[in-house]
Amino acid sequence: MIAAKGYAAQNETTPLAPWNFERRDPGPHDVQFDILFCGVCHSDLHQIRNDWFPGIFPMVPGHEIVGRVVKVGAHVKKFKVGDLAGTGCLVDSCRTCENCQRDLEQYCLNGNSQTYNGREQDHKTPTYGGYSNTIVVHEDFVLHISEKLNLAAVAPLLCAGITTYSPLRHWKVGKGHKLAVLGLGGLGHMGVKWGVAFGAEVTVLSTSPKKEADAKKLGAHHFVVTSDPEQIKAAKNSFDFILDTVSAEHDFNMYLSLLKTDGTHICVGVPPNPASIETFALMGGRRSLAASGIGGLAETQEMLDFCEKHNIVSDIEMIDIKNIQTAYDRMLKGDVRYRFVIDMATL
Ligand code: NAP
Ligand code: ZN
Ligand code: ZN
Repeated sequence: MIAAKGYAAQNETTPLAPWNFERRDPGPHDVQFDILFCGVCHSDLHQIRNDWFPGIFPMVPGHEIVGRVVKVGAHVKKFKVGDLAGTGCLVDSCRTCENCQRDLEQYCLNGNSQTYNGREQDHKTPTYGGYSNTIVVHEDFVLHISEKLNLAAVAPLLCAGITTYSPLRHWKVGKGHKLAVLGLGGLGHMGVKWGVAFGAEVTVLSTSPKKEADAKKLGAHHFVVTSDPEQIKAAKNSFDFILDTVSAEHDFNMYLSLLKTDGTHICVGVPPNPASIETFALMGGRRSLAASGIGGLAETQEMLDFCEKHNIVSDIEMIDIKNIQTAYDRMLKGDVRYRFVIDMATL
């Protein structure tokens, strides 16, 4: 076994603290890479607080992981020692079900292996994430990372990036579409970048008037302060798509009213509690309510390659791991510009 160190939550109430644990030695198809940077996703906070379901503790969060390969198994073909490598929200899946066969490992019908707060495919061994110094992953779940991009700013692409890229690709959002991105945080700011790159007319819907200048810098064409009834009134029936990245309770019915006829509200944010939806909010315009989860491995690589070609990365604020709690506190206040990334050298 490999001695690893990281930051873990021992239960849903204690703050994260240093923790030593073990990872498996790389098997024939495994890649071991030392972690250089790890992004901080709002899902990390949801999961260490048991917002969604009882977690597996101790929990080492982190699923926006980049680093350099230090060891490869005898049969590994895609990586060699010294290569950059990345891992997102998944470290394995059944590979045989209909969805895995379609490169949709995120929807594996037999239960995929999430990078942390999950279990390996033996459905027993807990997984530990990227707030740690090193990780061992089957090569099929390791992504190639460009040497040309700022590595720390690439890390958030592994979750925030793919989670917003995948639905916009699936619904073919682009030229001629009016896209609203609801919530300008980690996911939201990537949603804006994709929307602009794909040619859509992008509006940011935000609770934070102070983010307007940033939204425009990210390429958004319009900015709506959602607490202003006049601005909301003016935005009624105007969007083809809303990409909803909000992490907390919010009024779906109000946002649905901003969609045009046949518009689609795509949820990627996962608030802790179920939402209340009025059928009339959908019926008045044959609107659709949909959701999307991260992305498969092939699509994640496609997105990373797109980023290399178009020079796209996340806007980040680097933190020392000892300041993770402060980062969470700021995240809860919507004060993230626009992704915290942990410099793992500070571990
Ligand atoms: P984040 O950086 O904290 O951004 C969330 C943004 O939502 C905030 O910056 C804020 O933007 C807005 N917001 C917060 N509370 C709000 C409220 N009560 N009403 C309206 N807007 C509010 O979080 P994130 O990392 O982007 O994650 C967002 C959500 O996506 C989380 O629930 C996370 O678990 C989920 N997620 C889902 C997937 C998936 O596969 N579907 C993957 C990753 C993350 P403004 O200041 O602009 O209002
Ligand atoms: Zn995430
Ligand atoms: Zn499967």
